[in-house]
Amino acid sequence: MKKQLMNMLEDRKEEIIQIRRYLHEHPEVSFKEEKTAQYIVDFYKDKDVDIETNVGNGYGIIVTIKGGKPGKTIGLRADFDALPIVEETGLPFKSKNEGVMHACAHDGHTAYLLVLADCLIQLKDEIPGEIKVIHQHAEEVPPGGAKSILESGTLDRLDHIFGIHLLPTDPAGTVGYHSGFSMAGRSYLKLGIQGIGGHGSSPHLANDAIVAGAHFVTAIQTVISRRLNPFHMGVITIGSFDGKGTFNVIKDRVELEGDIRYMNLETKEAIEDEVRRIVKGVEVEFGVKCELTYTSDYPPLYNDPEITEIVKASLEGANDPDIQKVVEYPMMSPSEDFAYYLEKIPGCFFYIGATPKGVEKPYFNHHPKFDIDEDALIVAAKAVGYVVCDYYGLE
Ligand code: MN
Repeated sequence: MKKQLMNMLEDRKEEIIQIRRYLHEHPEVSFKEEKTAQYIVDFYKDKDVDIETNVGNGYGIIVTIKGGKPGKTIGLRADFDALPIVEETGLPFKSKNEGVMHACAHDGHTAYLLVLADCLIQLKDEIPGEIKVIHQHAEEVPPGGAKSILESGTLDRLDHIFGIHLLPTDPAGTVGYHSGFSMAGRSYLKLGIQGIGGHGSSPHLANDAIVAGAHFVTAIQTVISRRLNPFHMGVITIGSFDGKGTFNVIKDRVELEGDIRYMNLETKEAIEDEVRRIVKGVEVEFGVKCELTYTSDYPPLYNDPEITEIVKASLEGANDPDIQKVVEYPMMSPSEDFAYYLEKIPGCFFYIGATPKGVEKPYFNHHPKFDIDEDALIVAAKAVGYVVCDYYGLE
């Protein structure tokens, strides 16, 4: 079956590229991907599968491929939303929706998975089990699509789950994996500090919110340097400090917003506890009123070691000219809502190299000039194809 599947995919290499280009030209932002979802549903028309639409809190689509024999159920997921970015690639198939761009390769994820799914549908009598193809909406904007798809119960019987991301960090032909915690979890904080305004000359009659805010910004960095295990990764960034006023007027109120990243749940909780404690401290120390909003969205992404080992062995044993190199990737600080699936279902999220040809310093995901090498699309299709075959023990 392996050889057959790979030949089928090779024959459709050009089609995958054309689908990617079509999607690239017609991007839609998270939770508004109505036409993209319709395009996907139309692709499966007249194919022997069950389709569920509007799964979760948006346009999620689950396609069930029933194999010819009983066995395990796996999920293959690709996201399909784009970003509110004005595209600057100058590609002939650049976005026709001004201000919206597929700048995170979700067009490529969807294109490879559609064609791979179609090939698996044609070979389904050989498959001992069931494959759920998850076309997921809204990866980019919390709360994301993944969590709600899980909560819909549609994936309750899933044994394992797989997904990939195209990344420009390595050339096409390189596939990367990381076992265990692999991508960062994320929290958000907003802090309002209320003091008392007054005359710049008379601090004793006022209570300066800027000084209290400045102290908070400095103090929370000690959470990272003095409170965390130095071997545990944590980042706190205050990206907004809103205190515009007048040079000789003591500011009564400031508002701060920040982004927090971590690689495991212990660090997540430690940072939150410490931030809350410092906020209380600022209130006591400066006599101000603090209103803290602290929310967590995407959890750290944890790749199941056993399943990652299956992926690694499958890719290393592929012996395919399209998969030239299988490398271990480091942990990465971006977040990804595939992490929600992995909290409930053991699985593996791995990486497909896609540096555009002839480019030395590629633009990273979410850049207005982000692009991929389309040769990576067949690599993605084959890599996931090999994993599926090996998972089910199909030679
Ligand atoms: Mn992405």
